Amino acid sequence: MAASVVCIASWNADLVSRIPRPLARGETLLADAFEISPGGKGSNAAVAAARQGAAVAVVARIGDDEFGRMALGLWHTEGIDVRHVDVAAGERSGVAQIHVFDDGDNAIAVFPGAGAGLDAVHARAAAGTMAVCRVVMASCEVPLACTLQAFRQARTLGALTLLNPAPAMPLPDELLPLVDVLTPNEGELMALAGPGAASIDEAAALLLARGVGAIVVTLGSAGCRLYRRGEAPRNEPGHRVPVVDTIGAGDTFTGALAAALARGELLHPAMRRANAAAALSVRGRGAIGGMPRPREVSALLA
Ligand code: ADP
Repeated sequence: MAASVVCIASWNADLVSRIPRPLARGETLLADAFEISPGGKGSNAAVAAARQGAAVAVVARIGDDEFGRMALGLWHTEGIDVRHVDVAAGERSGVAQIHVFDDGDNAIAVFPGAGAGLDAVHARAAAGTMAVCRVVMASCEVPLACTLQAFRQARTLGALTLLNPAPAMPLPDELLPLVDVLTPNEGELMALAGPGAASIDEAAALLLARGVGAIVVTLGSAGCRLYRRGEAPRNEPGHRVPVVDTIGAGDTFTGALAAALARGELLHPAMRRANAAAALSVRGRGAIGGMPRPREVSALLA
């Protein structure tokens, strides 16, 4: 099946240890629990979109190691097209070493590994797939050169572009006008707008003036808000759900939004579905554990 969503995807294996408190320099502590789970904002969003019924292809770079095989296994299980995955011989795949403390706080060291080598060449190689897709999405975990080239192609080929600007970083002026929909959380929106903005409304106005097509800011348990040039903001309230963990909520939101837009939904109804899908995802453990199917989203919105 031809892909309707192409995701320029980061991948890392999350190595999660539960330890009582942060390590001091030179210290060794015994961990209470350890698990390895799939991570990377791009891969998470790709899985969320696939679970929502989109035909998804990832453009990614992984190593030829056990964590690279874990990525391929996950994408295979989720029905994601891997023809544009570059398996780099002799390189390590991305890894995030995560320490979760007794008070719930955490500390994370990410090694992007082979993913750091994703560049414009990889985007060009996927042009044929992009030519038939509806949505091209990326996050700031992949090198900007690849995202820029992919979004330029999407513009030429008539696909919508979706950028989750996480982790927050300054974005070049040439990228913003290529972004149809930006999906920051509140902190990322304020960081992107810079010190000139005193509120999320002002931050959104600044970014729209710099050329972004639309902004859907996610507001945690309060839902999300849509901004478009010349229109009043539109709110979508949050859903009350039992929270297990909120890891991957933003990625689920972006992936579900991409899937709805790829089905041809307009931005406001697509955002309603994304808001419901992300709320459902916080009921499950880890980034992808709670990612819902379309039936569950429809039931929550009924
Ligand atoms: P991020 O995970 O990127 O920091 P948010 O915390 O804003 O982003 O969460 C993204 C989306 O996930 C929200 O817009 C909302 O739809 C959903 N969400 C997050 N936390 C909750 C919660 N406690 N209850 C219900 N929905 C939530």
